[in-house]
Order: sequence, then C-alpha cells, then structure tokens
Amino acid sequence: MLYEIEEAIPHNSVEDYLRMDRIPHIWCPGCGIGTTVNCFVRALETSNLNLDKVSVVSGIGCTGRVAGYMNLDSFHATHGRAIPFATGLKLANPELKVIVYSGDGDLTAIGGNHFIHAARRNVDMTVILVNNFIYGMTGGQVAPTTPMTATATTTPFGNFENSFNLPYLAESCGAVYVARWTSYHVRHLTKAMKEAIAKKGFSFIEVLSPCPTLYSRRNKLGDGLDQMVYYEKNSEIKHGADTRTVALEFQGKIICGKFIDKERPTYLELMNAHYKKVFGDSFQEYNG
Ligand code: SF4
Repeated sequence: MLYEIEEAIPHNSVEDYLRMDRIPHIWCPGCGIGTTVNCFVRALETSNLNLDKVSVVSGIGCTGRVAGYMNLDSFHATHGRAIPFATGLKLANPELKVIVYSGDGDLTAIGGNHFIHAARRNVDMTVILVNNFIYGMTGGQVAPTTPMTATATTTPFGNFENSFNLPYLAESCGAVYVARWTSYHVRHLTKAMKEAIAKKGFSFIEVLSPCPTLYSRRNKLGDGLDQMVYYEKNSEIKHGADTRTVALEFQGKIICGKFIDKERPTYLELMNAHYKKVFGDSFQEYNG
C-alpha cells in the first residue's frame, strides 16, 4: 500500500537539484527562504549551464544553509566570508560560474567589507542576498538592514539606526546588475536570477523574505502569509528606478525591479589588460 502511495506522488524536478538526504530542511514554517531556492532551481534549470561548473557559496545564517542543500559543488563558508571565498574560487578557476547565496547579516554586516570590494573590483560572480531584516539564526538581533523603528531582540524599544539601501550600495560600488524582488514575485525573481547568472561581472539581487519566527512575531506583523499579502499590496515594480529612491522603510512601500544592467570590464579582464600594457608580449594572459 505504501508503495502505491509513493508511486502516486509526482516527481518534483526541483529535487534533482537538492541533496534530498539533507531534507527536511531547518527553515521555519512560513519562512521565505525555501521559495527563493525554488526560484533558484528553476533559474538553473532553464539556464543551460554545465552544472559541473557551477559553485554555490554561502556564509552563516538561515540563508547560509542553502549551499548545503544544493546538489552542486557548494561551500558553506565562515560568517561573513562567502564573498572572499567565492572570489578565490573564481580567480583560481575562472571558468566556474560562482554564485554567492546568503543573508543580509552575513553579507552586509560581518561581510560588508567584502561585499563593497567585490562590487568595486567587478569580480565575476552573482550575489543573491535574502533580506529578512534581521539576524535570524542567531536569535533576531538588529542588522544593518533592520528598518528604523522596527523591533529586534537587541532593540526592544525600536531601531534608531539608518539601514542600508542595498541596491544603492551595490550600484555605488560598481555592480553591473542590480535588482530587487520579494519572495512573492516568484516569476520575476526566477527571471532575475537567470539574468544575473548569465551576466559577466558582479551581479546582485536583493530578495525580501519573511522571517515569521523572529522579525514578524516581534514586530506583530502576523505570519508568513500575512507578509506575502503585505508584499503583494505594497510592492511597486519600477524597472530602471534611481537606486537612491528605493530605500526601504518599516512596512512602507517596496520598489522592486531591475535597476541596473550595464557593462564594465571584470577584475580579470582589467588585470590582463593592465599587465599586457605593462609587459607587452612577454605577458601571458591569465585565464586559470
Ligand atoms: S528564523 Fe526566520 S529566517 Fe530563520 S528559518 Fe526561521 S523564519 Fe526563516
């Protein structure tokens, strides 16, 4: 009988991209991270990439678990160090497609320095940053992305610090592709992931995602579904919007879209061109 029931469950192609022996995952009910992974798999599925040449790097945190669940060459780096780890991978083996998948605390607090320099250098990688406005795994502390007035475990009377406007930060530092979506916008997000992965240079996607267990509960915002309703009702799609105008406020309007899509030489292209100029024909171009 059990056999018959199992047979009746249709195969989900997402499973082919996951380490099913690691499932069930650790994410809480209503958390948006799993939805972003589903979009990521759909983007990979339709990207015609050689998956043997794709590497996913995560740091520490709830989103940092993504690398461990992907059935790809993946690396779970130390806190904040996903980007330098990914930079090393890319420079050692430039033919790899390197994707950093991590959270807002990991990438813009502990790893903030690495984020700005990888964008400045235009290191050829895609950074998918899941922003749940808080440090989830470590207990709900305030992060550089926590909106002003929002409550966290370390700001019980509300946050009084300005938070990062991440698309503006990424663009100012030199990212060639910058987009923002939410876990409600699954089709847009999948398309953006596909575009960002195909892009040469530092591409960046911010994905707003509900953390019902810590952020929403503490701020009395309801469950994961309530947050999805909020995303649906308060998002405005504005492709090409000036990133200076897309800062987020506590439960305010969310400007989504593809903001930046431009060309700029990558770190390796600049390095090769520079040394070619300096050393002439005696310089052998580095391509891994
Ligand atoms: S703590 Fe928040 S971000 Fe982490 S898994 Fe739970 S709901 Fe998701």
